Amino acid sequence: MIFLLRCRHCGNTMKFQAATMMMKGKRKRCVYCGKSFEVSRAVIEQL
Ligand SMILES: [Zn+2]
Repeated sequence: MIFLLRCRHCGNTMKFQAATMMMKGKRKRCVYCGKSFEVSRAVIEQL
């Protein structure tokens, strides 16, 4: 599955590929600003 995430720090959006829905509570590092954020709260769309 591919999700569209929005960084809470810089507001940029990025695609995130997850093998399963086991992404709750996981953290991802923003490719733009380098800060990490919680994946589950950053999901804005499932592609
Ligand atoms: Zn960012």
